[in-house]
Amino acid sequence: MSDKTYPPSAEFAAKAHVDAARYDEMYAASVNDPDGFWSEHGKRIDWIKPFSKVKDVNFDFGNVAIKWFEDGTLNVAANCTDRHLATRGDQTAIIWEPDEPGDEAQHITYRQLHENVCKMANVFKNLGVGKGDRVVIYLPMIPEAAYAMLACARIGAIHSIVFAGFSPDALGARINGCDAKLVITADTAPRGGRKTKLKDNVNQALLHDVDDVKCLVVKRTGDQIAWRSEGDYWLHEEIEKVDADCPPEEMSAEDPLFILYTSGSTGQPKGVVHTSGGYLVWASMTHQYTFDYHDGDIFWCTADVGWVTGHSYIVYGPLANGATTIMFEGVPTYPDAGRFWAVCEKHKVNQFYTAPTAIRALMGQGNDFVEKYDLSDLKVLGTVGEPINPEAWNWYNEVVGNGKRPIVDTWWQTETGGHLITPLPGATPAKPGSATVPFFGVEPVVLETESGKEIDSTEAEGVLCLKDSWPGQMRTVWGDHDRFEATYFQQYKGYYFSGDGCRRDADGYYWITGRVDDVINVSGHRMGTAEVESALVAHAKVAEAAVVGYPHDIKGQGIYAYVTLMTGEEPSDDLRKELETWVRSEIGPIAKPDLIQWAPGLPKTRSGKIMRRILRKIAENDFGSLGDTSTLADPGVVDELIENRMNR
Ligand code: ATP
Ligand code: MG
Repeated sequence: MSDKTYPPSAEFAAKAHVDAARYDEMYAASVNDPDGFWSEHGKRIDWIKPFSKVKDVNFDFGNVAIKWFEDGTLNVAANCTDRHLATRGDQTAIIWEPDEPGDEAQHITYRQLHENVCKMANVFKNLGVGKGDRVVIYLPMIPEAAYAMLACARIGAIHSIVFAGFSPDALGARINGCDAKLVITADTAPRGGRKTKLKDNVNQALLHDVDDVKCLVVKRTGDQIAWRSEGDYWLHEEIEKVDADCPPEEMSAEDPLFILYTSGSTGQPKGVVHTSGGYLVWASMTHQYTFDYHDGDIFWCTADVGWVTGHSYIVYGPLANGATTIMFEGVPTYPDAGRFWAVCEKHKVNQFYTAPTAIRALMGQGNDFVEKYDLSDLKVLGTVGEPINPEAWNWYNEVVGNGKRPIVDTWWQTETGGHLITPLPGATPAKPGSATVPFFGVEPVVLETESGKEIDSTEAEGVLCLKDSWPGQMRTVWGDHDRFEATYFQQYKGYYFSGDGCRRDADGYYWITGRVDDVINVSGHRMGTAEVESALVAHAKVAEAAVVGYPHDIKGQGIYAYVTLMTGEEPSDDLRKELETWVRSEIGPIAKPDLIQWAPGLPKTRSGKIMRRILRKIAENDFGSLGDTSTLADPGVVDELIENRMNR
């Protein structure tokens, strides 16, 4: 891994909210006096009744309870709309960019957003939804998705968004999982030039439903759809029946705001519960500081609202801050691999936030797609979702950022609500591949994997835990507090266990080495599979790689690499040898893969993460029980990999 550093320019730092000195000062205050720090920063949002108590947290297994600002009351939707009306009612809140570049983009002002949210909230009420009820949102990336989220928040209903790429089965499980009263969907959803039949999927998901779940349908395309015998409603018809007056419900800080399932990379997805006050403080504060967002900037997070990244950085964080946020319906490669950059140019994007998987895919398509667009408005680039390999970081920096834009590599999880470890663009010298340093109030620790002992020295390697709570932390697993405690608080007592492995370098920078499950032990040497993958993708002929361990008679564990080649490259035994030699020279002899399987495709979750647990099973030659595969984007690739497995 590279240790080259990229400090922010003096010019950038001078205009930033936070420079290096300010970071040190604020970070010290946040951990030395959390109550003082958060009683001040908790005021960044509007409270109906101000909180008097800042924090009440217990991380002890068996008694885990997390509360922030607990006696305060607020309404999250009012924070994202009403409070901006006086000062920026006519400012664009949401820019909607449709799937087809030829179709017109929409610019929705804060005033229009407010009206749309109030009306949708009244429709929800008419359909019998009230405070505490659950609403499943199964929508494409259209403004109605944001209206629906905020409409729930306005009336105190709890939303659970299901990514529109999920199958009827996965959708059904999530509808039942929270006993939803209402599902909101669209007729069909265009994406990358293809259409998904969302309403049909809902019909299938509700086929065996006994509790008469209602379904509200947004007319997106006007395609033919089938209605159920009862309980289906068009949004455009229902909205005619309501007015735009809907007073926001007064909610307690600890009332649930939403449920969201994790992406399922490591197992059965968990229904993560976030509450109102602390989450909003965290989403808005990280949005402002991590991206150095200033009034008037155009912010674009390319995630889907079906993932936590979309919740915190398309909707709640930006809108709480009165930002202009982009919602993009399409995909990075439609109509061609220049779409992201076309949209950046068209809407004069200032902050751009995407995932390493997208960066790697676009990098493989060549620089022409980037270079033909004017990206001069960009100020900050961000990434999230996986460790970013230095190759991809460098391409992002040089080709997209012209070597001049700070990159923020943000480490966080569905569970954390927002960024935990990330550079601040005006303060933190970046190192390609490192998420760098903790955000305010975040106290990461590295524990010895086996003993669970906290490692005091600056340089450390082990599992990444958090010593104390932060306002955006998840509060429980929906309906299963025991699972919450068992997953995050049982193995390492007294800490929140992230499930990720990490290394802390001599500068105190954190390097995420992947999931703890992905750390392998080869002849007594522990290594993160991410490191071997990084070396493989640094080879010019390799597009993507996934590495897992498998039982090895002599070494304990052997290294099994799945390799996807660049378009046009042919697999051969010579190339296999070339890659082995390459990894040896990049990392060392110990990291040389024992088995390399050519993989035309890798099993990925619908958020684009490689599902290593499936690859591990195949490598172990134990593919009878692959576990939950309902979150796979393309189950077909698994059969191909089993068919051509190397360890049999
Ligand atoms: P599940 O918990 O169901 O297995 P998941 O962990 O993939 O799914 P998410 O909450 O979407 O679900 O992902 C969080 C994880 O993504 C982190 O724990 C980490 O492994 C990885 N991750 C996110 N951002 C980064 C980053 N900047 N660098 C390294 N890893 C990251
Ligand atoms: Mg996880």
